[in-house]
Amino acid sequence: MIPALPSSNLHRVCQLVLLICASSAFASEPKLDFQLDEVAEGVFVHHGHHVDITDIERGDSANIGFIVGTQCVAVIDTGGAIATGRALLSAIERHSSRPVCYVINTHVHFDHVLGNAAFAHLNVEFVGHINAPDAMAASRSYFQEEFAAELTSAKPNGVIAPTLTVDERLRLELGERPLWLEAHKRSHSDTDLTVLDEKTNTFFTGDLVSVERLPIIDGELKGWLRWLDNYQTKPFARIVPGHGPTNAAWPEAAEPITRYLQTLLVDGRAAIRDGVFLEDAIDSMSYEAAKPWLVNERHSRNVSRTFRELEWE
Ligand SMILES: [Zn+2]
Repeated sequence: MIPALPSSNLHRVCQLVLLICASSAFASEPKLDFQLDEVAEGVFVHHGHHVDITDIERGDSANIGFIVGTQCVAVIDTGGAIATGRALLSAIERHSSRPVCYVINTHVHFDHVLGNAAFAHLNVEFVGHINAPDAMAASRSYFQEEFAAELTSAKPNGVIAPTLTVDERLRLELGERPLWLEAHKRSHSDTDLTVLDEKTNTFFTGDLVSVERLPIIDGELKGWLRWLDNYQTKPFARIVPGHGPTNAAWPEAAEPITRYLQTLLVDGRAAIRDGVFLEDAIDSMSYEAAKPWLVNERHSRNVSRTFRELEWE
């Protein structure tokens, strides 16, 4: 079922109450029915549930995976709870006897990084965007308070920041299996990092591409559209989006997200030109474009981000 879009302040109050009530339900770690798809030879992906931040399954809401080389294994995102990270680690151990050498985070949002602590006891390098350590430090207390249940048993150091950062490109070697990591300018967020598995031409996009589930602007709308424009011409065999199916055809997977973000850009520019106030636009602007997406309650937040960005044009 597609959740209703926020239509009034009352709706937002209800969301807040839900969040408060739901917090107490997170006391136990989520039970995980941990499925994996082998999307290409040696490339495994777990499909995250399409749930929002108030849901008890929120710790397992992003696509996460791993790539196996002849020497070692690289993890790409660890989920939004230590329990999810642990489930991923046991899945790796079932599929390979090789050690994990890298834990790569595609960006610093809770649903992609809070499982990092499940790998902290291993001899691994945590890898992220050059901005990721600062972003982790800025979010640390929010993560620890809001996601205390998801981080349980990892205190006081549940939030693990990268030990190796990427400012442009970095090649990692897993043994007859090079990965190319690329750090991107502000787009979905300030910390977007992609991973290309050269051997199978499989491209992990993180949340630079969201399929089925509403994309969230936490960086720059225009930067994100530029990124989509640049990358649509690349001949990837498949992509692994941050949310949605565990693999998707490229560039077809870029079409819905590009359409949605372009609508926000066009409607946002028109509203600002016509002197519309944000309070009047927030529940109605680009409403039809948001409707087909799952977990679309945060569309109003995207409208607000669009206004903030475009009013300075
Ligand atoms: Zn995400």
